[in-house]
Amino acid sequence: MNDINITAYGATDFVGRSSFLIHDRDHKILLDCGLELVPKQKTIAPVGVHDVAKELDSVLISHAHIDHSGYTPRLSKEGYRGNYYMTQPTKDIAYRLWLDHLKIEGRRHWSETDLDRVFHKISTKDYNKKFKVADGITAEFIHAGHILGAAQILLDWEGQLILYTGDINDRVTPMFDGYDLPNEKVDVLITESTNGDRYVPERKKIDVGLRLLAKQIADQGNKMLLPSFAVGRSQETLITLALDNDLDDIPIYIDGMIVTMNMITEHYLSEKWVSKGFLENLKDAGLNSPFQKQNMIPVKSISERTHQSRRYLAESNEGSIIVTTSGMLEGGPIHTYLDLLGSDENNVMGFSGYQVEGTTGRKIYDGATNVTLFEDYGRKKNVDLNLKIMKFPYSGHTSVDGLKQIMGDSGAKNIFLVHGDKRNQKYIMEYVKDVAKPSLINENAPTPLIGV
Ligand SMILES: [Zn+2]
Ligand SMILES: [Zn+2]
Repeated sequence: MNDINITAYGATDFVGRSSFLIHDRDHKILLDCGLELVPKQKTIAPVGVHDVAKELDSVLISHAHIDHSGYTPRLSKEGYRGNYYMTQPTKDIAYRLWLDHLKIEGRRHWSETDLDRVFHKISTKDYNKKFKVADGITAEFIHAGHILGAAQILLDWEGQLILYTGDINDRVTPMFDGYDLPNEKVDVLITESTNGDRYVPERKKIDVGLRLLAKQIADQGNKMLLPSFAVGRSQETLITLALDNDLDDIPIYIDGMIVTMNMITEHYLSEKWVSKGFLENLKDAGLNSPFQKQNMIPVKSISERTHQSRRYLAESNEGSIIVTTSGMLEGGPIHTYLDLLGSDENNVMGFSGYQVEGTTGRKIYDGATNVTLFEDYGRKKNVDLNLKIMKFPYSGHTSVDGLKQIMGDSGAKNIFLVHGDKRNQKYIMEYVKDVAKPSLINENAPTPLIGV
């Protein structure tokens, strides 16, 4: 047997541009092809993939988040003509994100033509079904518990089992019951390590606080702003709010791309894609979809002109909750709301996602009360914020205990850490060295996975 190697084009000891080539003398399989999002700058591509694009046997995408899927259409431009494997929800979500990326960055990385070509070569696969990706190599998607359609990728490489986690979550969330493990022990584990030294509280405990606070604020006639990531966190937040009858009389306004992502989510409300518990909760509440509850109102439906709707909302005396993009406050509708509502000390903004260093969200999270809005749109504006800031410690990634569990339970003797930062990876290396051989990966240079 040949040595099997991994070459990383990003996401080694940082989060961004996840893209990993697994290769031996005869085969080349690419796992993910994402972009790196940098605050206030353009995205960064995983450049090394250009050199191998033509030689790839298959491309597999773990989930739709842009740091895992955003550069995929470029592979077509670089001459790759094979299949792209992903789950059906990943295809639906990624396509919307790709279109959005074209709007934001233009044809910097790839064009509409590249996207069209890729779209027709996508082959969708369900969880837990093996499929061939090269001679002697099969793949299987396994539930990741992260976002809709998210999968871990299990490769059977001529008898050697390699598990790439993509992004995983061990917590019971409104839609999922945590990640699944493969049926067999694996030889190699390539795992994300985002929360490598962080304990994430159980969802239910955070949910209770969110619901109580939302009710209190709205009952007093004030506004609660919940800036959220369009894919994943915003659906979870809306579901949490929808399943609380105490909030039935409180309008919940939805703004930004979240509305589209809700519609996609509605297509997949079956046991194949979401947890039984979630479907039972919906049934008990008499709902076909959490997003179609009476008090869930897309901002676009208020009037034909979105800006007018937002102003109307902000100026009305009605207490309400506004769930909107963008999650790190880098632009989009949340800037309009901060402009209109941020000066009122009775209003509240709740953070529900991690705020990356350098973003406007992080500045406010860390206590800044004067921020610049609309930076991208050429009509910059400085505003003083008086509204209260609340922090909800949600995470879409597995808690450190869940990470330790997958490292132990997978049976892997070789463990490679990716998608985390140096500090928490160091912590994990210490922990894991008694049960397996932990390794880090260098960027753009082959590291042996098996056969050392
Ligand atoms: Zn993700
Ligand atoms: Zn990720």
